[in-house]
Amino acid sequence: MADVRTRPSTPETLTIMGGGLVGSLLSLYLARHGHAVEVFERRPDIRGTDPVEARSINLALSDRGWRALEGVGIAEAVREVAIAMHGRVMHDVQGNLTMQPYGQAGQSIYSVSRAGLNRRMLDLVEQEPAIKLFFNQQCRRVDLKKQELDMLDTATQQSRLVPYQRLFGVDGAYSAVRGAMQRTDRFNYSQQYLDYGYKELTIAAAPGGEWPIEKHALHIWPRGQYMMIALPNLDGSFNCTLFFPYEGPASFAALQTPAQVREFFTAVFPDAVPLMPELETEFFENPTSSLVTVRCFPWAHQDEVLLLGDAAHAIVPFYGQGMNAGFEDCTVLNELLTRHGHDWTAIFQEFEDSRKPNADAMADLAVYNFEEMRDRVADPRFLLQKKIESQ
Ligand code: FAD
Repeated sequence: MADVRTRPSTPETLTIMGGGLVGSLLSLYLARHGHAVEVFERRPDIRGTDPVEARSINLALSDRGWRALEGVGIAEAVREVAIAMHGRVMHDVQGNLTMQPYGQAGQSIYSVSRAGLNRRMLDLVEQEPAIKLFFNQQCRRVDLKKQELDMLDTATQQSRLVPYQRLFGVDGAYSAVRGAMQRTDRFNYSQQYLDYGYKELTIAAAPGGEWPIEKHALHIWPRGQYMMIALPNLDGSFNCTLFFPYEGPASFAALQTPAQVREFFTAVFPDAVPLMPELETEFFENPTSSLVTVRCFPWAHQDEVLLLGDAAHAIVPFYGQGMNAGFEDCTVLNELLTRHGHDWTAIFQEFEDSRKPNADAMADLAVYNFEEMRDRVADPRFLLQKKIESQ
């Protein structure tokens, strides 16, 4: 391994591992506090010409997320790529619709494309002179004793050792930074997978780029043991996500051919199928992804390393709060930076003590809300699931 040592450019340089949604926002907050920031991101720059992401997941952005964006003055720029969803529209198996508002008049959650939001945030990050972004940089190992990162440049396949002074691990649910902390004494860690996976599908835009179903809503097809949801895109299409058991009579394992997929979808999502021209292709080409809850503690290693976002608390997506909670981490850290200045011990300790109970509560609510969304919001007359399972 080539040992290309690069010292941080100033003694105050902070290192962020992961330039995803939370890492981008965190870099802005740290820079606003006068720090020089270096962000290492494993993927190529998603704003490049190559479509790096095979899938385009949409996320629900809620109040706690907006507050965090407002804190660094970027909410307006993000609002340009967001669509208000005033409530959820339930589709029963006969195609009847029921609307449940999310709150009082004027209150909404917002649909944003993950890739669109990430691109917008990277643009804003790049305008900040104190932040340096490094793409194609995969962290393979963190040496907590030497305070050193083993980094692979995925474009050139060159490796190098990068020292850090203070490291922020925002490298997601399968965090390499957390991986190093897991090997320290008295570090608690658990991961729990659901027996369900998810698959991204698409409802196409109507001719002229119109939305073929209600634009300002989160759509749900609740079917007892599984469900499909759809969030609006700016171009008139909807990103659908099928949450489905891996095994069983109605499951990914049970649908093996295009004909089976069409027959099943026509039986259980009859009003959606005519709007999904790529259904069979997408079903077999798009990956089936797993759903995991990660809990760990402590989130800080001395006053040198801190985990935030999914690296600290990955949750299943049914409360629509994973990213929002990660953004709120930044709001709380910002308050602590304002209060404690450069006293990193106090900042890290107060951060983990105040955020951990909230993260645990969110993780429990997210699992609970899966049952709520797939089952309890359903029309009580809905019985087809039972029929299918008895066949
Ligand atoms: P990530 O978004 O995972 O970003 C981590 C970054 O670190 C990535 O860019 C990755 O490339 C980089 N990285 C990883 N490993 C390394 C490494 N070794 N070296 C260098 N870089 C690395 N949340 C909501 O708030 N609302 C929703 O509606 C919602 N819906 C969801 C739907 C689904 C299907 C799923 C799966 C999640 C959903 N979430 C939602 C959760 C949300 O996606 C996450 O909580 C959020 O992306 C976490 O952001 P993050 O920056 O912490 O991690």
